[in-house]
Amino acid sequence: MTKFWQCLHLICGKISVFYKGAKKTKSSGLNSSEYLAFSEFVLYKSANDNYSINSAEIIEVFYNLRIDIDKLSYATEVSKMVFDVTEENIPASDILQLFLNTLYVISETEKNLDLIFSIFQIRLLAILGFLPQIAKCTNCGEPMTEDMEKFYFSIKDDGVKCEPCSRIDKSIIELSKTTFSALIYALSCDSKKLYSFEIPNEAIDELKLLTKIYTTQKLDKEYVVKKY
Ligand SMILES: [Zn+2]
Repeated sequence: MTKFWQCLHLICGKISVFYKGAKKTKSSGLNSSEYLAFSEFVLYKSANDNYSINSAEIIEVFYNLRIDIDKLSYATEVSKMVFDVTEENIPASDILQLFLNTLYVISETEKNLDLIFSIFQIRLLAILGFLPQIAKCTNCGEPMTEDMEKFYFSIKDDGVKCEPCSRIDKSIIELSKTTFSALIYALSCDSKKLYSFEIPNEAIDELKLLTKIYTTQKLDKEYVVKKY
């Protein structure tokens, strides 16, 4: 069996692993395979290419997700999306980093959960290649400028439109300057600063509507957070 040992530290992607009973960690009493726990596993690969766990160590348990039903609901939806967009044995380190960052912010901060979920979705879509055009009108090329007060996002054409071009587009979602700035930031900032901004509730509602419709259109599936 020894010849099948492999170190998988460098593969940051999704893989299926055979699992015989939970391996408890003495210090925490939690299982390394606990739902929404971040653990490090040493695996071995059998002759028929199946992986099994040899040893495991919990790195982060995101404790507050286990005691707050609202936080858990949002984390569950985030987890479903990550599961759906990743494929077995394909490296996905950007998505893993975004996933862990998002779980951490949901668990350890009191930031607005709808805002976190919206930012997560738009950033995930960008990683997947669905980066909307936000610098200029997708129809005529008119650049967006700071003195504009309203912005028009076309779901159909994956980006913003100037006001005249927006009039004949039924898929337009109107955005305030604040929401549009938040969108630009979420798409372009350093990943470590992704959740470092706050916006008023009206802007959160706009961003939430935009990301919900854009995500549904791109992933062909609706992700709805359960409310309790
Ligand atoms: Zn235009």
